[in-house]
Amino acid sequence: MLDSLNLNLSLGGGAEPALEQAAAEPRPAIENVIIIGSGPAGWSAALYTGRANLRPLLITGNELGGQIALTTEVENFPGIGTIQGPELVENMQKQAERFGAEVLIDYVTELDVNGPPFTVTTAGGHLFRTNSVIVATGASPRRLAVPDEERLTGRGVSYCATCDGFFFRGKEVVVIGGGDSALQEALFLTKFASRVRIIHRRDSLRAGATLARRAKENPKIEFIWNSVVTAISGENKVEKLAVKNVVTGEETTLPVDGVFVYVGHLPNNQLFMDKLAMDDQGYLITDRLMRTSVPGIFAAGEIQDHRFKQAATSAGQGVAAAMECEKYLAETEA
Ligand code: NAP
Repeated sequence: MLDSLNLNLSLGGGAEPALEQAAAEPRPAIENVIIIGSGPAGWSAALYTGRANLRPLLITGNELGGQIALTTEVENFPGIGTIQGPELVENMQKQAERFGAEVLIDYVTELDVNGPPFTVTTAGGHLFRTNSVIVATGASPRRLAVPDEERLTGRGVSYCATCDGFFFRGKEVVVIGGGDSALQEALFLTKFASRVRIIHRRDSLRAGATLARRAKENPKIEFIWNSVVTAISGENKVEKLAVKNVVTGEETTLPVDGVFVYVGHLPNNQLFMDKLAMDDQGYLITDRLMRTSVPGIFAAGEIQDHRFKQAATSAGQGVAAAMECEKYLAETEA
């Protein structure tokens, strides 16, 4: 399997195709199951369908490992203790491969849901037919949608402290958001930055008590409550933020070196528009058996879950989808 950790979604699907050659047998004319996505839901689905002898093919997407690979310390995955996000992903992949899952580093550009067999087309030029699909495409960071955010992305605006924190040694940074991600990554940034200010739109945190306590106790972290960022500015890199207090209406300018945005996520649903049923927020609708609106297509993880959104719940949903998929294939004798 190619080392593709630095492939980036923004490359627009330019990933190089490389089928894992570990298995001697060629791929079947029609796959049993294709898993789309390589986060915890995808890997656990691959593990279980692999152990069920279905020879699953997992297509990674352009961000191998999904969001958890961009996370620093994971300390709430049962039985694991504390582990770095990328290491957890690597372990999940190795375990799935050990049981026969094959991995394609590529990006799915089209899913034809008229089937089975369904047709899966990739950016790398592959066209697969498959009797079932497990969708595990997850979610991606939500943008703030303020002036100059896009222009200054990679020039001080970041959505990944793990990737970019190092560049802010001795600098002043701002983290936006009041959830677990914002606080966890703010704590991580204190290893590098001289000062970390968290701007949150309310006066109480959404994050859990443990992270909230740690952040409040950290001498490098300060909170700016009831405030939103209305613009980011700077010539070639971030220099200032326009901040508005939503209670008093007061507007201030904050000089900063970096802005880390953690204001939630949006489901990666572009492939499924007008094909699979979605709720009003764009998450796939699944039933308790992880079935989407098309028989033979299952979904697991954050593409269909806007409530729990934990690595462990996504992994569990991947297991459930795999077990139901196996049952579906047996019942339809595909
Ligand atoms: P989240 O829980 O949805 O929090 C998003 C935060 O961004 C909220 O505080 C929200 O404010 C704020 N926000 C949303 N839109 C905004 C906007 N336009 N402008 C300013 N602020 C905005 O997302 P998350 O923190 O990424 O966490 C996602 C899931 O992963 C959660 O279930 C979380 O528990 C889990 N997670 C867990 C851990 C851990 O346990 N160690 C670490 C990371 C993530 P409001 O509060 O006012 O809505």
